[in-house]
Amino acid sequence: MDIKKLVKPNIRSLRAYQAKEIPCRIKLDANESPYGFKAFKSLKTNRYPDPEARALKKLIARDLKVKPEQILVGNGSDELIYYLIMTFGGPVLYPAPTFSMYGIISQALGEKKIEIPLDKNFDLDERAILKEIKKKKPKLIFLSSPNNPTGNSFSSKRILKIIKFTSSLAPPVKGRGPNGTLRPPSSIVVVDEAYQAFSGKKSFLPLLKKYKNLVVLNTFSKIGLAGLRVGYMTANTEIIEQSNKVRLPFNLNSLSQEITVKTLKNRKLLRSYIRTIVAERKKLLSGMKKIKDIRPYPSDANFILFKIYPVRNKNSNGAENADALHKKLLKQGVLIRNMQGIVDNCLRVTVGTPEENTIFLKNLKKLL
Ligand code: PMP
Repeated sequence: MDIKKLVKPNIRSLRAYQAKEIPCRIKLDANESPYGFKAFKSLKTNRYPDPEARALKKLIARDLKVKPEQILVGNGSDELIYYLIMTFGGPVLYPAPTFSMYGIISQALGEKKIEIPLDKNFDLDERAILKEIKKKKPKLIFLSSPNNPTGNSFSSKRILKIIKFTSSLAPPVKGRGPNGTLRPPSSIVVVDEAYQAFSGKKSFLPLLKKYKNLVVLNTFSKIGLAGLRVGYMTANTEIIEQSNKVRLPFNLNSLSQEITVKTLKNRKLLRSYIRTIVAERKKLLSGMKKIKDIRPYPSDANFILFKIYPVRNKNSNGAENADALHKKLLKQGVLIRNMQGIVDNCLRVTVGTPEENTIFLKNLKKLL
């Protein structure tokens, strides 16, 4: 598969900014100040960060069993979504509802968006997606699994079908080509695994070997490092090299690199936090199920989406109820996310500590 053909022409001819780290005794090449502050033993604030985040990439690569050249790190995975859309352009296809940044960044960069509604189980509408791929030839497809804000994982079979269909391994389909057939258009498929750690489902990473059009996106934001803004994407080197051209030279600051590396060395603690959140999600869901006027949806992520049934007040339309409940909870000091306008009459609560979840449940019961 020729990834270069998928890259926007203006990016194809671009060369990445070269910020080489050359070992030296006296460093006077980068207009840095010679005076700095020692935040940590090895961190000097007056020097630019490692432009390649080598130590961090090495650790991630070891964990994922890929080569460091297959990784691009970003100031949050938001930045990597930006880079991907900047590199490949649109049309950009994604299901709806999903993570809002796919659409926001596409629009900001002037690229066409193709939004395909999820089916009634919040799963991918495979037929509609494949049809739109054939018709509109998207350059990029974003699939967040588990999906934000619905919380479910998409069917792996359906994701795989989409990856296959847009890869060079796809069989010909009916069309105006030789013998009345045509190879389906190629697209980059980004599986966003921001919440994968909470799902117990298999990652799509092993499929990178087979599918050259696959990108697996991930972030440390959901597992305790949101304040550091560190995301990473894994793909075949060609996609990484092309996307790296649009990366700003020092996109990941020294402090974030340093602390992430330190944290990653404490895998046991990271894993135990994830286990605790998953256990709390179970408890929270069963607590919410006992409340009559709401319908919580099962979740593979670190949040739960729930619908409010407008049963009490016959004159109220549903919208009022989600908005009203959201406001009332906030009055009690409990802030959750109002999804009204995105998912009909729904709110989304993040799994907190056992104490926080208890307080949330108590207030929810009281208000309903
Ligand atoms: N992908 C998904 C599905 C998300 O929900 C989020 C955060 N809300 C992100 C990516 C971005 O995460 P970050 O930029 O913090 O890495």
